[in-house]
Amino acid sequence: MYSARLWSVRHARAFQRIYSFLEGYIQWLRPLVHAIGPRQAETAIRPIERVTKQFLFDCRMCGQCVLSSTGMACPMNCAKQMRNGPCGGVRPDGTCEVNPGVRCAWIEAINGGKRIASNTKGLASALPALPPLDHARTGESSWIKVINGSSTYDPIPRFSETEVVAHLPGRLESACQSGRFVVTVEVAPPDSADPDALIARAIRFKGLVDAINITDGAGGNCHMSSVAASAILAANGLTPVYQVACRDRNRIAIQGDILGAAALGVQNILCLTGDDVSQGDHPQAKPVFDLDAVSLLHIARGMCDRGQYASGRKLDRAPSLFIGATANPFVPPYKDRVLNLERKIDAGAQFIQTQFCFDVPMLEDFMREVRARGLHCRSRIIVGVGTLSSAKGLRWMVQHVPGIHVPESLLKRIGDAADQKAEAKRACIEIIQAIASIEGVAGVHVMGHKNEDVLEQIIIESGIRTLATPTIGAAS
Ligand code: SF4
Repeated sequence: MYSARLWSVRHARAFQRIYSFLEGYIQWLRPLVHAIGPRQAETAIRPIERVTKQFLFDCRMCGQCVLSSTGMACPMNCAKQMRNGPCGGVRPDGTCEVNPGVRCAWIEAINGGKRIASNTKGLASALPALPPLDHARTGESSWIKVINGSSTYDPIPRFSETEVVAHLPGRLESACQSGRFVVTVEVAPPDSADPDALIARAIRFKGLVDAINITDGAGGNCHMSSVAASAILAANGLTPVYQVACRDRNRIAIQGDILGAAALGVQNILCLTGDDVSQGDHPQAKPVFDLDAVSLLHIARGMCDRGQYASGRKLDRAPSLFIGATANPFVPPYKDRVLNLERKIDAGAQFIQTQFCFDVPMLEDFMREVRARGLHCRSRIIVGVGTLSSAKGLRWMVQHVPGIHVPESLLKRIGDAADQKAEAKRACIEIIQAIASIEGVAGVHVMGHKNEDVLEQIIIESGIRTLATPTIGAAS
């Protein structure tokens, strides 16, 4: 049914016209539904809806149909069950990170949305943020809801800064508000039950960076849990950013972990969808993806600002957190990536950390759009940078790590050097200095797997600790 699905997206505009036409008449069926009873009517309609939508859209009968908002591309066909735009792992040719043989479902959705809108604005500007799936409604008919005049889903409301509960900002939040150039660094948790192994790698950054990101099963590989590693750093006077990936836990576990992290002194979290399990050391594992990054942001905000779980149940004491999200300007759909970012900021992201930047002109294009939309004034944009010891290592990363783009010219420059490690470090420092002059960039996030020595040298030698940010918006 894959080809029928693509055909439907190509004809999204015609489908939308048919839907709009039918909507005008479908209410006439309401008295009939009442006469035979809603339950019996649903029993009669459901099989017809299932067969029709399965054939045309590869529909999974989630019971919360969003087809007319997603360009007639069903987001249930996304391998990560993303509900709010593409993940950061889309391949350069627009195929899926998880299933390389098929087009990314969200690129299809964007194309279908453009056909419906008949303009080039893209989808995300028109599409309301979608809530996480209500699994209890799987199998329900959406057509019966349309007949009854009820909506098939309730969009996530836009986050308002006025909702943020007054609190004492932590170190990273204060740095972001100060207007100086922010520096964060990434540390992978150890494959060890010994906390000293983690502290030894992280402590060198004390006073050198504003926060230390603790990855959450990066690349689908198992390590010490990010919540435990973050708590260890907080207990040792460091400032962790607890990375929360939606891949491994459902909404019950994630909310419990967020509360636990806050109780243990963690003040910053980074909400991400997460890499697929297929590239990691447990490809047999079941990916969860109960939430995506946008719905996780909304839930985390609700816990902090409204003091409640996603279910609406009240917390006795709300966590106080500085909440961030990720962005990847370096993968398709390039022009629509800024809308993806906007959606995360609308959901409440106060800071953004991007994927590795090896291509400054590409970042400049992205930041131009960011500034045009005023997004740098609503959230702090911290750009990811990093280094590897050789061109071979970089090529491996491009081929095996989803969402990495490295220009051929840079690979050649490093590959041709007599000392590739030194050249890669030099290139990284040059990229940092170029990034630091881009208006709207609030800082850099330095990454490099178990390469802390070099990361420390890069931070010191690039001189970024003493920089002011080139014109960012008013502090949030
Ligand atoms: S690339 Fe990502 S967003 Fe697109 S279909 Fe695959 S998993 Fe979903």
